[in-house]
Amino acid sequence: MSYVIPPPARIAVQVAEGNDLFPVRRVYCVGRNYADHAAEMGADTREPPFFFSKPADALVPGGGDVAYPTLTGKLQHEVELVVALAAGGAGIPAARALDCVYGYAVGVDLTRRDLQQVAKDKGHPWDMAKGFDQSAPIGTIHPVAAVGHPARGAIWLTVNGQARQTGDLEQMAWKVGEVIANLSTYVALAPGDLIFTGTPAGVSTVLRGDLLVAGVAGVGELTVRLV
Ligand code: MN
Repeated sequence: MSYVIPPPARIAVQVAEGNDLFPVRRVYCVGRNYADHAAEMGADTREPPFFFSKPADALVPGGGDVAYPTLTGKLQHEVELVVALAAGGAGIPAARALDCVYGYAVGVDLTRRDLQQVAKDKGHPWDMAKGFDQSAPIGTIHPVAAVGHPARGAIWLTVNGQARQTGDLEQMAWKVGEVIANLSTYVALAPGDLIFTGTPAGVSTVLRGDLLVAGVAGVGELTVRLV
C-alpha cells in the first residue's frame, strides 16, 4: 500500500545539548493555572484545571520568526512551562505522574484574545483562538536527567526588552504531577505528548515587529519575533 498524498512531516522538538529530537504526538494546554492570571481574566482561582488542545503542527520549535496571525487585533502571549512525556496511560496516580516526564521546555501559548472572548461569550470552542498556525513556539526540551522536576523558580517574558510577565513556578495552582494525573482522567496520555501548564499574570497585547523573549529558570529561554 502507498499513501495517496505525501504523508505529513513528523513533528519534533530538539532536545537541549545534542542533536536528538523529541517526537510529538499531541499538544495539551491547561486553561488557567496561576491564581494571579486567573484573577486578571476575571475567573475563580480555585476551580479544577480544564484543558484544551493545539495541533502538533502549531508548534514552532526553537522559536524565531512567527507570522502575525490573521483575524485578530488582540494577539497576546502566555509564557508557560511545557512538560514532555516519555510515558503515559489513563488514570495515572498523581504520586506516580512525574515518572512519566521526559523533560521540560519553555513555551509560549499565543492567543487571539479577541476571538477567545467572543468564543467565551457565545459558548463556542476555543480552537480558532488558541490552535492557529504557529501558535505554540517552544524551546529545546531539557531532560529530567539534566534538570530534575522544576517546581520553583522564575517564569518570565519580556517584549522589546520590557518585563511583561514575571512569576514563579511555585504559584502553579495545580502542580505538574497533578496536571498529568487530572488530564489522564479525560484522555489516555502517551509518549510524545506535550502539556503547556498555564501562565502567570501579565499577559499583554503584542504587535507585528515585537520581539518576545520568554524563560523559565533552569529550562532556558525562547525568542520569538512577530513578522
Ligand atoms: Mn495558556
